[in-house]
Amino acid sequence: MNPNAHKTKKTLFDRARLPDPLAYYAAELESLRGLGRSATARCPFHDDQHPSLSVNLDTGAFRCRVPVCGAHGRDVLAFHMARYGIGFVAAAKALGVWSPTR
Ligand SMILES: [Zn+2]
Repeated sequence: MNPNAHKTKKTLFDRARLPDPLAYYAAELESLRGLGRSATARCPFHDDQHPSLSVNLDTGAFRCRVPVCGAHGRDVLAFHMARYGIGFVAAAKALGVWSPTR
């Protein structure tokens, strides 16, 4: 066991470089609507006929209002993991916030 493993992880992951939530969700959710801090879109996590997904464009947090779906997360990284069924590291790499080991 490497006692510094958690520290290494922190240096590799740079949350400050996460994409802007508006730019990210506008690209990911073609049905995105709304101005200001929050927007809605058809939820990609269930067969949604209405815009049930609320996204916070300041923080990137998202939540589906349909109880049987219940998709939610705190930022675009969590969204990316859930949407593509990938883990934290893979999502961080996909979003360009994972620095390669030197
Ligand atoms: Zn949903």
